[in-house]
Amino acid sequence: MSEKSSNWPEWLPLRQELRSRMPYGAPQVSADSRLNTNENPYPLPDEVSSSIAREISLHLSELNRYPDRDAVKLRAAIANYVNAFVRPGGDLKSGNIWPANGSNEVLQTILLAFEGSVAGFSPSYSMHPLLAMGTGKRFEMIPLDSNFSLDLDAAISQIDLLKPSIFFLTTPNNPTGRSIPQNEMRLIVDAVSNHGGLTIVDEAYGEFSEDPSALELLDTTPSLIVVRTMSKAFAFAGGRIGYAIAREEVISALQLVRLPYHLSSITQLAGVAALSHAQELLKEVGQIKIEREWLSSQLRSLGFTVVKSDANFILFGGFKEVTAISGWSSDQLWRELLDRGVLIRDVGIKGFLRVTVGLPDENRRFITVLRQIISK
Ligand SMILES: *Cc1c(COP(=O)(O)O)cnc(C)c1O
Repeated sequence: MSEKSSNWPEWLPLRQELRSRMPYGAPQVSADSRLNTNENPYPLPDEVSSSIAREISLHLSELNRYPDRDAVKLRAAIANYVNAFVRPGGDLKSGNIWPANGSNEVLQTILLAFEGSVAGFSPSYSMHPLLAMGTGKRFEMIPLDSNFSLDLDAAISQIDLLKPSIFFLTTPNNPTGRSIPQNEMRLIVDAVSNHGGLTIVDEAYGEFSEDPSALELLDTTPSLIVVRTMSKAFAFAGGRIGYAIAREEVISALQLVRLPYHLSSITQLAGVAALSHAQELLKEVGQIKIEREWLSSQLRSLGFTVVKSDANFILFGGFKEVTAISGWSSDQLWRELLDRGVLIRDVGIKGFLRVTVGLPDENRRFITVLRQIISK
């Protein structure tokens, strides 16, 4: 993916570890069904978009001024959302929240603020190692087992060996869709903190899962940062808002390295307005979960291996068992689908592809096209 060989000119004083690299990103090609980046496929309801437009237009004349550096209103709105929806009855304050331009910026800021080595499971979100590299840190991978589940004992002995100061844990995991059970998560978090490390729990897909948030562990574990985003379930990927939830000391430490005025006034206004419609924005999550189960069962009945997903995407493989495409690479199947107007994601795991749950029509088109390919 990002490892493609590249020819940077000699005169560019590029950092050595970047010389072999190309900019990372999912292909943004046009297709009838774009099922490749795990967005919520439903457009914003009219009442939500008009409320965002109203808020922004009321304040446009103030764009001559810098935004609120501490994003006070947005942080309060996020804290309210988290106390109402993520951990009902919780009492998090604005001081426990830090928003940025997508959770990727939050993650990068964490890596800038804290020293030492980084570790995480593999396969998992490919941006974690890339962000570590960008901030000059080593990233050690701890492999998941062949079903993409956690081997808890092996993981803990690796953590004891590596003593990472930052440990990434993604649940539900991307690209597998699997969640890590709460009791196992607690043991991982404890193992990391025993060596003085911080655990970053990336809950980008938390709203699609039945499991409780790792926030519950914050009561007993100060060395925990939960990172969430409005990009996935919340149907707000274009708004670029993600946030960290942690103890106040941790949030204060992030302020040491954040860019001043990092969140534009427009983003802050849009975020507050969107959060006041949280219920409406999340209302399609149930439908997406129903479609996820439909897609999973269709894929299984076509003979594919499907990883059980708690997110809004599905990792599927087992091409060997499907006669017509037996021997095909992921890339080959990916291209055949794209030629027929369906864009999904090759996540770099041999023999697997990831499909995002889309609108019912898009999901049906994907299955129809896949059926055509394998019955040739
Ligand atoms: C999509 C994703 C993110 C972040 O996205 P932002 O749009 O930057 O908030 C973070 N973590 C994981 C695991 C993701 O899949």
